[in-house]
Amino acid sequence: MTDATSPCADGVFANLIDGAWVRSSTGDLFADINPADTTDVVGQFQASSKEDAERAVAAAAAAFEGWRRTPITTRARILTRAADHLEANAGRFAEELTREEGKPLPQSRDEVLRSAQTLRFYAVEGQSLTGETFVNDDPDMDVFTVREPLGVCTVITPWNFPISIPARKIAPALITGNTVVFKPSSDAPLSGFRLAEALAAAGLPKGVLNFITGSAGAIGAAITEPAVVRAVSFTGSTRAGEHIHRAVPFTTRTQMELGGKNPLIVMEDADLDKAADLAVKGGLSLSGQACTGTSRILVMASVRDAFTDRLLEKVRALKIGNGLTPGVDLGPLATAGQLDTVLSYVAQGKREATHLYGGDCLSGDEYDRGYYVTPAVFTDVTQDMRIAREEIFGPVLAIIAVDGYADAIAKANDTDYGLAAAIATRDPRLMHAFARDIQAGTVKINRTTTGNLINAPFGGLKRSSTSTFRESGRTGLDFYTQTKTVYRGC
Ligand code: NAD
Repeated sequence: MTDATSPCADGVFANLIDGAWVRSSTGDLFADINPADTTDVVGQFQASSKEDAERAVAAAAAAFEGWRRTPITTRARILTRAADHLEANAGRFAEELTREEGKPLPQSRDEVLRSAQTLRFYAVEGQSLTGETFVNDDPDMDVFTVREPLGVCTVITPWNFPISIPARKIAPALITGNTVVFKPSSDAPLSGFRLAEALAAAGLPKGVLNFITGSAGAIGAAITEPAVVRAVSFTGSTRAGEHIHRAVPFTTRTQMELGGKNPLIVMEDADLDKAADLAVKGGLSLSGQACTGTSRILVMASVRDAFTDRLLEKVRALKIGNGLTPGVDLGPLATAGQLDTVLSYVAQGKREATHLYGGDCLSGDEYDRGYYVTPAVFTDVTQDMRIAREEIFGPVLAIIAVDGYADAIAKANDTDYGLAAAIATRDPRLMHAFARDIQAGTVKINRTTTGNLINAPFGGLKRSSTSTFRESGRTGLDFYTQTKTVYRGC
């Protein structure tokens, strides 16, 4: 391992291990590439080794006793200072986020500010952790619960929300007294780096947060499987999440936020223009690369054509381009792999359903240098088709005609996933029924499937989540604490 003198020198970003910004022991680097312009290298990051990962875990373990005893107000102050740093640099960090991930600049700015807000939320909410007291027959005994941190927690995150997802995992871990090993996605590591840098600059003691980049193959097992790692909070694909969940020791807690195949039901009484907006915003913003993105539209057969006309009009009007350009609605897909996947599902959709629009690679001028594709819309989609069943994670909408509410619910629930779901209706009885009947962790009524509050629980059902501990809000603290019951006599 070579010590680095600073977090970043000549476009090379270091790992943070045991309080020092360091190069990987391999000396190897990988490039963080701008998906809007693949000639633009956003930065070089450490291709870390198993040994680097073991050092990160050991540093987190060594720092735990000191950090758990650090006063809660000190821990809160560090989160707040880091939030100040993110807000003060929001413009610069948002531009970096757009360059590495592709989303339009206003969305990147919102994400950076939301991350700062998340740190502030947990700085306050973490100070209101409580236990319970229990009545008993012994007049000289108090019985109560205390909540304490777990120890080393590993945080593994995807590229689509490269700073807000790390923030909503790391902030509750730190405020409750845990130490952290954080591995961002190799496809957008810079935003996670900025979060780690902000927390380090805010005064975190050495080893409390360790930031390490590299491939899952090289470092994944070393940061998840040792018994000293007491918890793994992971957001990413169902395949990877299920693998990690099975591979970790029995004593390790997991919180897995995974894929989705999220439905929007459009009832006959819906405002069809508004419903089309919900489909476009929920399904295509972030170029369809949101875990809660709408991918199936279950529309009543009687209004299908009227709805589809409105939808197509809105889809055609979307402006696609570099996310740094003002007025762009959709940026590029985030990686070459994403582009391949989306194009292969578009080809599949053309074989199995009726293709209405899009799914084409854009070319000419700036398009030639990025992963640009037009959003695709298919109709006459049926439940057995792959585009109706598999997570595509791209700008592909599948319209499925249904006959009545019961048919819509049955089809909406006929999936392995259960992350988010929405309904467009004016009928209060259907709103109530939908919240009861739909198998999804996030239920939206006349709102997009995407979007969730910092202060409310978030997570999925079925194969979208481990259904153990919810993220976000007050419940986000539960995952990172364990309960002891104390019997205190005298
Ligand atoms: P991914 O599973 O390929 O990777 C996610 C992260 O896990 C990356 O950092 C990756 O390097 C790491 N990883 C993969 N295998 C690992 C292993 N065996 N050990 C340790 N680390 C490992 O997912 P992605 O392509 O980055 O993200 C897209 C997926 O994420 C989609 O399926 C999407 O639905 C899901 N997602 C879910 C949510 C949610 O909250 N439910 C939010 C965003 C994205």
